[in-house]
Amino acid sequence: MPIAEFEIISRYFKQEIKRSDVILGIGDDAALCAIPPNRELVIAIDTLVAGVHFPVKTAPEDIGYKALAVNLSDMAAMGATPAWMTLALTCPKNDETWLTKFSQGLFELAEIAQVSLIGGDTTRGPLSITIQITGFVPPHSALQRNGAVPGDGIYVTGTLGDAGLGLASVKKQVTLPREIQTFVESRLNRPTPRLSEGQALRGIASSAIDISDGLVADLGHILSASGVGATIELERLPLSSALRESLPLEQAWYLALSAGDDYELCFTMPRENRLSADSFVRIGTIEKNPGLRCLKVDGCLFMPQKMGYQHFA
Ligand code: ADP
Ligand code: MG
Repeated sequence: MPIAEFEIISRYFKQEIKRSDVILGIGDDAALCAIPPNRELVIAIDTLVAGVHFPVKTAPEDIGYKALAVNLSDMAAMGATPAWMTLALTCPKNDETWLTKFSQGLFELAEIAQVSLIGGDTTRGPLSITIQITGFVPPHSALQRNGAVPGDGIYVTGTLGDAGLGLASVKKQVTLPREIQTFVESRLNRPTPRLSEGQALRGIASSAIDISDGLVADLGHILSASGVGATIELERLPLSSALRESLPLEQAWYLALSAGDDYELCFTMPRENRLSADSFVRIGTIEKNPGLRCLKVDGCLFMPQKMGYQHFA
């Protein structure tokens, strides 16, 4: 017996993380929240469509986890502390096994980030998940894309390209040893939003963005918003041992530069800001000269756009 919409909501989505700033959560026509004094609201929304943003066969618990992770990553890129989310869920049928696992994955990360699900909408149709998230920053402290200046260093958190290799693995374009496969597929399906790193960068970074579409594309947004150019030193790109062991160096660079879904942060700051942290590395420098140059250690230019996924065919 398929369950009705109200049943779905109370059975799978009403187990929200309790926060004292939620005055009224799921169950009324809208939610009510108390905005903390002296904070600006930071608001973002992201939709994941089956077959577009994740492979159709992705495990439901991973879909739930990732739908929140990509939104938390936007909070991280703004330097914000996340607080509340709403969920618009469209699914083709009331599949209780799917809903159980999806909500488990979602709440697993919600618990970690202490984000409360305060409402949403549930409809029937092709599988699509939209989460809208709200967080806070102290006044005038949000990280933005437009503050990079010539001379700033360019930095990234974590390692790049793993999710790209994970996608190639899921699509069976590469065959990997079990341990590496597990690692890169979990980097694809369960990205780690860099929330504490983003918050630590308030007042320190001159610009920031999260890497959802690939380093070249996303750093490109910082460059155009800031009206500057940049050089990346390829040997500095942080690559996991899984990626380095799986591909020739130039293909690993290609993925690190152009594959999406890593959800690491890319940010800029004056080079003398010696922030004590081992969670990020400098990969290049902001310059006056517009455009993005990727340099090998011998000074040769590397043009990633000339390389393609056919390498995996
Ligand atoms: P309305 O018809 O007033 O829009 P709904 O029937 O859509 O009300 O929703 C009833 C309540 O359940 C609301 O509080 C809404 O926010 C919540 N809700 C609906 N779908 C979801 C969902 N997928 N996740 C969380 N809350 C939901
Ligand atoms: Mg509704």
